[in-house]
Formats: sequence, structure tokens, C-alpha cells
Amino acid sequence: MALPVAEWQGRTSRLWAALDPALRERLAAASLQDAVRSHEGFPKEEILQVLLRGSCEGSPEAAAVLWSLQAASHEAPGSPEVSVCFANRSAALLHLGHFEVCLEDIARAESHGYPDRLLPKILLRKAECLLCLGRLQDAQDILRVLESKIALERVMTTHLTRLKKLSQLKVKLCEKERCPEPAREARGGIQGKSEIWEENNNISGASSSLSLSFDAERGRHLVASQDIVPGQSLLKEEAFVSVLCPGESLPLQGGEAAWDTGATNADLYCHRCLRQLLASVPCQGCSYAKYCSQDCADVAWQQYHRTECSLGALLLTLGVFCHVALRTVLLAGFAEVSRLVGCSHSGDKDLQNPEARCKPLSEAPDAGAGTRGIPGCDSNGRYQSSYQALFHLLSHTEQHSAEHKFLCTLSVVAICKQLQAAGLEAAVLNQESRQQWSEPKTCEKTSDELSPELKTVAEAMLRHVLQLQCNAQAITVMQELGPGDGAVVNKKPVRLATAFFPVLSLLNHSCCPNTSVSFSGTAATVRASQPVPRGQEVLHCYEEDTLCCSNEACATSASRENLSCRLQDLQQQIKKALDLLRVGKADQVIKMLLKCQMDAGNFLSPEHLLMGEMEDHLAQVYATLGKWQEAARHLKKSIEIVEMHHGPSSVETGHELFKLAQVLFNGFAVSEALSTIQRAEGILSVHFGPQSAQIQELQEMKACLSELPRNILQRT
Ligand SMILES: [Zn+2]
Ligand SMILES: [Zn+2]
Ligand SMILES: [Zn+2]
Repeated sequence: MALPVAEWQGRTSRLWAALDPALRERLAAASLQDAVRSHEGFPKEEILQVLLRGSCEGSPEAAAVLWSLQAASHEAPGSPEVSVCFANRSAALLHLGHFEVCLEDIARAESHGYPDRLLPKILLRKAECLLCLGRLQDAQDILRVLESKIALERVMTTHLTRLKKLSQLKVKLCEKERCPEPAREARGGIQGKSEIWEENNNISGASSSLSLSFDAERGRHLVASQDIVPGQSLLKEEAFVSVLCPGESLPLQGGEAAWDTGATNADLYCHRCLRQLLASVPCQGCSYAKYCSQDCADVAWQQYHRTECSLGALLLTLGVFCHVALRTVLLAGFAEVSRLVGCSHSGDKDLQNPEARCKPLSEAPDAGAGTRGIPGCDSNGRYQSSYQALFHLLSHTEQHSAEHKFLCTLSVVAICKQLQAAGLEAAVLNQESRQQWSEPKTCEKTSDELSPELKTVAEAMLRHVLQLQCNAQAITVMQELGPGDGAVVNKKPVRLATAFFPVLSLLNHSCCPNTSVSFSGTAATVRASQPVPRGQEVLHCYEEDTLCCSNEACATSASRENLSCRLQDLQQQIKKALDLLRVGKADQVIKMLLKCQMDAGNFLSPEHLLMGEMEDHLAQVYATLGKWQEAARHLKKSIEIVEMHHGPSSVETGHELFKLAQVLFNGFAVSEALSTIQRAEGILSVHFGPQSAQIQELQEMKACLSELPRNILQRT
């Protein structure tokens, strides 16, 4: 995803192996500038051609899918493909909670000849939408139609899932009839908490409770200049640059894999501001780029898309890091790029230590000098989210293998060659008038030679690709995962885009961070997740994978190799079980998961995160069966383990408590549900702020529980 597709990596790797050893050695030691220069001849026409023709396996196929996807409008009306496109989009819209628009898409799917055998699927979706909108009578009518339809199609393998779903919806319907939704306005009341925010004088977007420090060991880092309380906002930054990751298609309803492979992030979010798309404005040139508004489309075109538009397939092939690198350079503008690249040449030639180079003030930074002289700060000692700051992020050149650098170099050179061949050089160099460029330069023919300006661009891009290895920040959104049975919402942060946040990058990494980051569009907010006493460093975990660090730490068995092998086996078994869940074989899944648990008990400690994960999966299966007590029992075990690893106020614990609240809510365990909601609320509002969707959901559950009629309360 981040790096070029396997096919392109394979090609460059073979090319690398075939090079003269002496040349390889020279390249390994080359500066970024020399790297770009000496690779002049390498992307031989044929390689580039293959790449551009899109005949390699990995991404061009994906690219083709992505390109065809915007789909709905391009397919012949009345064809099943169109109807399936609409149906797919409706699934995504339901997941995102856009019920009205979802109903519109379902109606469109029906009118375009949606395949009859798949009809129950969208009828279920329709009923769920209607339920969510509180249109109970309509929902009931649909459920009746459905029941008779499902009764007729016994042969279908997925009918079990649908029956289950149907019965769940009926239960929900009954609940709703007894307990009408609280009025929407009631939400307003909970948003009262205002936050204390005072911006730092020296670091744009940072709180005044932080200060910027520098030492040899930790590089630049942020320290609490006064005591910080949990939940306090520490940093608010707009991404300098971000590129939407097309991502995988969303995991949607069980048993629909064959049809619902459609919607990806690229269809659901604005390619500029990352807002959710309801009605999109597609780019006229490539239907791939989509925007929330004409305004976003125009600004994106002006700033970068006029250059990127025709490069679409190449950029998808080369991966999102290359794409971010190109967009960074386009946003910065050629003048600034060329100034900083030039400055990096005139400084010392020490490539290993880019932080030491190109300082605005010549003296080395020391503690007494404040922020003046810290790399990336401007001449007033102010650190801002600027291209200059971004340019000075560490690229850890020495940590990348020579072959990896070779791959990156070929990739950025390939982009620059394509820019030159497509006559886009003027656009890259921000030269509005074409006449300036039409004649004088010698490079107008598509020779092997890049113009000096494009070499500068390539060098900057190479730097950015290498910087991304350790400075890329994922912009995530909460998306629902797993079979969408609706009873328990399993939300997890999913990567939406890859971005540079020059200020956020000042935070050093820790696997036990004292902050947590959330996103709104392309803006990041970092909040303290624990009390941070004055003088302590503020740390941040870049990884999204909750297993990133603690895997080996708590395993009981000896050899690490053996362990990782068994862990992999176990994870595969679990995955197999979960795949079965998608086709509705819950009983079998439970058996398999219990067996996994037993096996795992032989080599993992009871506190291992994976043990917790299995409990979580078991809870999920029981929830799909409507066995709420069982589900709650397993979730509680999972919570214990998660708490142990991530801490009782961590975001991970918050998510687990959120699930438990839903399970207890569904099982009418009123008093326990209320106390769980309260705990989840306390934790999640620290991480996501009091206005987040999750807090509102919790509030609604609470309101609903408090209005339950007495006869139900007595049952608990
Ligand atoms: Zn937008
Ligand atoms: Zn376009
Ligand atoms: Zn970590």
C-alpha cells in the first residue's frame, strides 16, 4: 500500500541484483542528489513502458477497479451492474449512518433491475434503515415481504444469516415500539463542556503547556512545561499534505463477498478534505478523484490535481508514499523546493545527519538558546507547519538499505519522466505561461535526460519518500468491522489517508504513549491520555496495530521463532473461524474458537493480548446469536486483558467498554448497562472529545434505558 506494488518492487530488485557490484556500492553511499543523477539511465524505456501500460499484476488491476468504480453513472442504465453499484453504495451508506441517502440508493438499485435472488439482502437493509429512521410501520411491512421471500428460497446457503438478521430486526422493532427514540434536540445538552486552549507562541498549533526541546539522543521533542491533565488538548494541526488511500473495500454484510466488493474509501471520502461524500463531484478528467463540493474540486485542481490527474494509474502502482511525495512538492511550490534543496547542497555534505544541515542560524542548538537554531524553526525561532519544517524531518537515510533507496529513486524518477513526457513540467514548476517552456529548453524531447528542474524535484521527492518511512502519519476514521449484524457495533480505526504533520512529527514514538490522536477531516487533535507532570516528555504511538509491541513480552514459551510460528498458526485458525461467521455458521465458529483458546493456553499466558482477542471474538459470535449474557461474560474477560495491556483509561479499553455497553443494553441488563455506559463515556470523551459520535450514541442508549417501561425493568 505505502510502497510500490510487488511487481514493480520485483523488477527493481532484479535490476539491482544485475548491477555491477562496484556501482551498487557507489549507489549505496550516494547522496540524494547523486542518487537521482546516477539513476538517469535506469528506468529504461521498456521498464517504464511496462509500468505505464499497466500490464503488471498488482495495482493496475486495482487501478482498473478503482477507475471503473465511480461506476454507477457510467454503466449502461438498467444493467445489473449499475444496480449492484447502487446496492453496494447503499450498504456503505447504511454503515455510515446516512439512512435517507441509503434508502434512495436502494430504490435506485431496485429500479435498475437488481438481481432477484439478491433481493432479500437489500430488503433487510431497507428495513434496517427504516427502523433507524423510526418509520416503524414501513419497516414492519418490509419485514413481512421479506419473511415470505426468505421462506421461498431455502436453497440459498446464506438464508440462515438472513433469518437471524430478520429476527434481530423484529426484536429491534418491538423494542422501538415500546421505547421511542429520544428527541434529537436532546443531544444539544451534552455538548456544553468547553475546553481550555491557549496556543504556544513558538510552535504553531501546540498548546502553551508544551515546549520544544532538542538533544542528541532524542532529537527534537516536546516536553510538558506545566502539569497536564488527561483529556487536555495538546496539539491541533492541519495536515501539510495528505493523500487518500484507496484502501480495501469495506467489510460489509455477511455472505455478500461476491457482490459487495465495491465501495472503497476512494468512493466514500472527499479526495481533498476527507469529508464523507454524500453526493460527489467527480473529476472530469479521471473519474477516480471525487470531491465533496465544486470548491474542493477547484482548489485540488489548482493545487495539485492538474498535474496528478493523468498520472493516476502510475501513482496507484507506485504506492501512496510516492504520491504523498509528489503532492508535497506540488503544494510547496517549485521556488521553495528548489531553495531548500539548494540549501541542503551548500551545507555540509553529511547526508547521514540531515537535522544538522541547513540551519537558519549557524550555531548548534543548545538548551539555553530556546527554540532558536533548532532545525526546522524559522529565523524567529518559531516552528510552524511549513514546508521548511517538513523538509527538515529526519529521513534516517542510514537506516534504509541501498536496495530500498534504489527502489525509491527509480520510483520518483519514473514519476518525473512521466511528468516530462506528458508535458506537465510547466505545471510542476508553477509556470503559468506555456510559451516560456515551449522552445528554449533542450529537454523537450522525451529523452532519457531529466531537465535540471525536474532533477531537483526528483531529489526532493526522494527525500520525502524516505522521510515517510518514519514520519508518515495515518489519518484514521472509525469504521465498523466484521459481519454487520447490527446488534453490536464493532468499530475500529481504519487508515483513511497518509499525511505529513510537521508539528505532530515532533512527538517521539512510544508504544506506551501518554497521548492519543483523533482526526476530523485532515485535522489532527492530540489529547493527553494520562496526567503528564511538568518536565515529562509527551509521546505518541504511530502504530495502528494493537499487537505492535506486546506480542513477545508476555508469552511464556521459550524460543521466539517457535513462538512466532505458533502465533501465526493460531491467527490463521482464528481467521478461518471468523470467515465461517460471515456465512452464518455460528455454532461451528464457537467450537473452533474454543479449540483455539485451548491450544493457545499451552503456549501463551492467560494475559496475552491474543487471548483477549479470542474472548472478544467469542462475545461477537454470541451477540450475533442474541445470547447477550454469554456475550457479556466473554467481553468482560477481554476487557480485563485489554486493561492490563493498554491501561484502564486507554482508548482500547474505551472501545471494549462501548461494546459491552451495547451488549448489556441489548440484553436489558439495565443497571449494569448504565454503569458501563458511564465508564465508557468517561474514557472515550477524553480521547475523542465530548462531541464525538460515540459519546452521542452512548447518551442515546442511556436515554433509552431510562425510559424503559417498568415491566421490562423488573425482568432484570
Ligand atoms: Zn472536500
Ligand atoms: Zn482527475
Ligand atoms: Zn507502538
